[in-house]
Amino acid sequence: MRTMTQGQGSLEGKVALITGASSGIGAAAARVFVREGARVVLVARREDRIADIVAELRADGAQASYSAADVQVSADVERAVSHAVETYGRLDVAFNNAGAGGEVAPLHLLEDKAYDLVMDTNVRGVWNCLRHEIRAMTETGGGSIVNTSSVAGLVASSVPAPYIAAKHAVIGLTKAAAVEYARSDIRVNAIAPGLTRSEMVEDWFARVPGQEAKSMASAPQNRMAAPEEVAEAAAWLCSDRASFVTGATLPVDGGRTTW
Ligand code: NAP
Repeated sequence: MRTMTQGQGSLEGKVALITGASSGIGAAAARVFVREGARVVLVARREDRIADIVAELRADGAQASYSAADVQVSADVERAVSHAVETYGRLDVAFNNAGAGGEVAPLHLLEDKAYDLVMDTNVRGVWNCLRHEIRAMTETGGGSIVNTSSVAGLVASSVPAPYIAAKHAVIGLTKAAAVEYARSDIRVNAIAPGLTRSEMVEDWFARVPGQEAKSMASAPQNRMAAPEEVAEAAAWLCSDRASFVTGATLPVDGGRTTW
């Protein structure tokens, strides 16, 4: 079990890798994790974006770095994890948050490549991250991992079928890894965000007329989350404050999955 000194940030001294950090929930997490005392390594494909966020964090005195990577590619993820270990000496925390919504169409009209993109980003991406992160964490005696699923990992809705399947699979991988590595002091959890203001959602609303109103009709709080609200939940689960939580999926959905 890990303990924390009172008064410290919840991630004080931890080395944290965050995927999907170039926008939305991941970019918000970079700022929240740094506020909580972490040294962060940002990962995404758009290098200019993560470089800008790192520059902003460093200007505020944080220890931050980045590694451009496509989470679909195992060698990319391995390089990013190695970068974290070489830069800061270890890896304590990982927020596997990169994801893709994919094409919006009825199941029978979607082609294989639409299915592949969503599965390869959301499921293979988390798979690649878990393998390389767990290898690094076992070398230093443990860690904490949070994977981003979705309310679409808990219930079906009007989002495309491959995304629903992929986000259910993320929860399956989370549970499997949590059980397998519980005695190695590695906790693995998932968050299931509800509708959150981000590029992915703005793009979805732009492509599907009437979707925003439809989504709001099923939002108990009649609003979307801000990315920071989701990032706060991830930070808590990543931290030692959640020391007896593993294999769990935490809805961060404003009550969306209660009915
Ligand atoms: P976003 O702003 O579009 O962020 C998606 C992030 O994933 C970007 O940083 C993107 O970076 C990265 N990414 C996508 N494909 C990647 C790849 N192959 N390799 C590396 N990085 C990749 O949307 P978001 O809402 O913050 O999404 C973050 C996570 O939350 C996703 O897993 C999403 O499924 C999940 N989620 C979102 C909502 C919501 O309502 N917004 C709800 C539930 C779950 P690059 O393009 O630079 O690579």
